Parts: sequence; structure tokens; C-alpha cells
Amino acid sequence: KSFKELSIIDQLCETLETLKFHKPTPIQQASIPLALAGKDLIGLAETGSGKTAAFALPILQALYHSPHSTLFACILAPTRELAFQISEQTEAIGGSLGVKTCVIVGGMDMMPQSIALSKRPHIIVATPGRLLDHLENTKGFSLRSLKYLVMDEADRLLDLDFGPIIEKILKVLPPQRHTYLFSATMTDKVERLQRMSLTNPVRVAV
Ligand code: AMP
Repeated sequence: KSFKELSIIDQLCETLETLKFHKPTPIQQASIPLALAGKDLIGLAETGSGKTAAFALPILQALYHSPHSTLFACILAPTRELAFQISEQTEAIGGSLGVKTCVIVGGMDMMPQSIALSKRPHIIVATPGRLLDHLENTKGFSLRSLKYLVMDEADRLLDLDFGPIIEKILKVLPPQRHTYLFSATMTDKVERLQRMSLTNPVRVAV
């Protein structure tokens, strides 16, 4: 099926064409219809499979339908490099919708990040430690309005011992949100995180 046949709106389909995403990859074929139907997802997919667009497209499409929402989605990634890549790709796909993302990662000054958060971006891409630091210390910042949480490369997040930090973040997120967990492998730790954070998830493997 084409992106249009997966019910992606014309405006996003046009951008996908300009990015030379002519056809959905298998993980996109499998996950987009489920995500658009409102399901929580567990995606078993490697880097290079197109998993970023698989979770970004349903979020961007939801944002199109509620244009005035801010702090709408949060994407957790294990490394700074991955966080920047996800942000770039999400802004490229969501560019025509005027979507603003903000990268919140460790090893950089807190203050510019606090200012960026105070401007209420649509989407935050973060490493868990620094996000928790802002949740605890940046005045006026909360994720109470969050509609989508993504945990990308969950196996790596847990290998890097972000588990306890993610548990603390989960406690301050609204329970009536959509959650997508992507991982290259399904380990005991990933299953535990999945049970803690997803509601009746559907598993998609490619
Ligand atoms: P990812 O697995 O999300 O890291 O994506 C791997 C690469 O594939 C990225 O450079 C994307 O820009 C590209 N990509 C993702 N989806 C598609 C698609 N449907 N068609 C062509 N390229 C894609």
C-alpha cells in the first residue's frame, strides 16, 4: 500500500514524496494503521527499517488534527546522536505543518533548554536523564498535556540503566496517552518496561 492508502493525509504525503519516501517500509506498513486506530504499539525493528517515520507519522497526523496542542509528544532515545536524528527527521516530515521540536539531552547547558521548553514545542526528543532533570527543576515545565510517548531503542535505553529514570518519568505522565515502544530485541527488561507503560499493546515485528 501507498502512504495515501494507509490514510496518511495529502499534506504529509506530499512532503514524503519530496523526501523520496515513495513507498512505506514494512514496519511503516504494519504500524501506521494500528497507530492511527489508536493502539499502543510494540515495534520490533532495527535501525534502518524506517521506524522513526513509523512512529512520527501517526503523531504528526494527530497534531494536524489538533493544531493548537503543545507539549503533545515526547520521544525518549538512548543517545544524543539518536535524539538529534529523530528530531531532524520529524521536523523534515512535519515541516509543512509548522511542527516545532526541541532536543533535550545531557552534556549541554540547562538554561537554553529551559528557554526552549518555555516556548512550548509540539514535540520533545530527549534522553531520559536530562528530561527528568527538567521535570524536577525547570519552573513551569510539565508533561501533563502529553498525548504521545515514544520509547525508541528500548533495549538500549535499559542497557544504559535508564530504567529507574524512565519509571520516574512515567509517574508524572498522564495515563490516558498513547505509547509506542520500539526495540531491536525483546528482553526481560523490555517486557517489564512494556507492562509498566503500555495499555493493551499490539506487537508489530518485521
Ligand atoms: P530509521 O530506521 O528510522 O533510522 O530510517 C532509516 C532511513 O530510511 C532514514 O534515513 C530515513 O530517512 C529513510 N526512510 C524511512 N522511511 C522511508 C521510506 N518509506 N522510503 C524511503 N526511505 C525511508
